[in-house]
Amino acid sequence: SSEERAAQAAAAQADDDAPTIFDKIIAKQIKSDIIYEDDQCLALRDIQPQARARARMAAPVHFLVIPKHRDGLTRLSRAEERHKALLGHLLFVAQLVAKQEGLQPGFRVVINDGPQGCQSVYHLHLHIMGGRQLSWPPG
Ligand code: 5GP
Repeated sequence: SSEERAAQAAAAQADDDAPTIFDKIIAKQIKSDIIYEDDQCLALRDIQPQARARARMAAPVHFLVIPKHRDGLTRLSRAEERHKALLGHLLFVAQLVAKQEGLQPGFRVVINDGPQGCQSVYHLHLHIMGGRQLSWPPG
């Protein structure tokens, strides 16, 4: 439920720059479905655990764009001047891979920040969702 997800996010590791599951994905220590890679970032399909994928939230296409070097960006609200070029690059890659994934009719880009934003992994990432008519506003 959305309440469970909020509770999970609130209980997620603190914003302390500790390693996350994404470090293992970047190091290719755990398998993931990588659909784009360059020197600065990776795009991979979200695992979308079925137990957590609420029908109204699930999207046929859901991928993440993550920076390879977190550089203190545990969450968007940690952004500093030095991160501006990387942040722009991540957005550029989001639309590039959205096209590659057939999302020409449109898509959504989401960044969850902190407990109230339901962030669960403290390594900055963009969610790109599409492949069906989305509704607005999100929950
Ligand atoms: P957040 O809740 O922090 O905005 O998003 C974290 C996302 O990472 C979730 O949508 C979750 O499904 C996804 N995720 C968590 N662990 C893994 C993993 O091991 N592999 C992949 N591909 N996605 C993951």
